[in-house]
Amino acid sequence: MLSEDQFKRNLCEVQNEVGEFCSQFDRSPDEVVLLPVTKKWPVDAVRFCKDAGIGKVGENRVQDALAKQSEVPDVEWELIGHLQSNKVNQVIGKFERIQTVDSIKLLQKIQASAERRELRQKILIQVNSGEDPAKFGLLIDEAEDFLERALGCSHLITEGLMTIAPYAPDDSSVARRAFFKLRELRDRLKEAFQVDLDELSMGMSGDLGEAIEAGSTMIRVGTALFGQRDG
Ligand SMILES: *Cc1c(COP(=O)(O)O)cnc(C)c1O
Repeated sequence: MLSEDQFKRNLCEVQNEVGEFCSQFDRSPDEVVLLPVTKKWPVDAVRFCKDAGIGKVGENRVQDALAKQSEVPDVEWELIGHLQSNKVNQVIGKFERIQTVDSIKLLQKIQASAERRELRQKILIQVNSGEDPAKFGLLIDEAEDFLERALGCSHLITEGLMTIAPYAPDDSSVARRAFFKLRELRDRLKEAFQVDLDELSMGMSGDLGEAIEAGSTMIRVGTALFGQRDG
């Protein structure tokens, strides 16, 4: 794993890059939150973030995240990986937000578990706006009915949408198209339901410029901060 000094240099570079994209696309850097993705890295990755004043991280796998949570207190955790419904009970109350809600079954389980624990769980709806067969998420056409169900859940707070662009390192138009589709969907749903749906979690190390261009409010960055992961 990289040294803390190297991490700080990477962080600085990413922040500069974000700043440049923001000025290029007429966004304020305050509107684009950086969520470091510490998946597959030791718990020190989380400590580095905390030391640098970043109080939240993203993790993919429930078990890995829970293990790290017990070692580093006072950090907000966002679940960004696919959630199996049999793990819902382990997750509720442990993650500030679940970004990957994409089935009615999951919605119902999260609602039931949050209700039992008398808390309100924040969620994002994952949409496969790039129609990538290898990705989870609702289809664009399913999102309206789904949002209606989510808004009817007393113990959920639906804050916005999340997507992962199809992997296409040589063609940035693929990610751009997926991100603009998510943005348009969000604008349409916001108008139709008259709700806050402000969070647009989109953009990773390889496509954060396209995401910022399309209106991302949260970029999830692993590799650019911590280096290449094994496997
Ligand atoms: C791993 C992961 C990221 C970070 O990807 P990088 O390319 O390493 O920046 C972001 N979002 C999700 C959902 C991920 O699984």
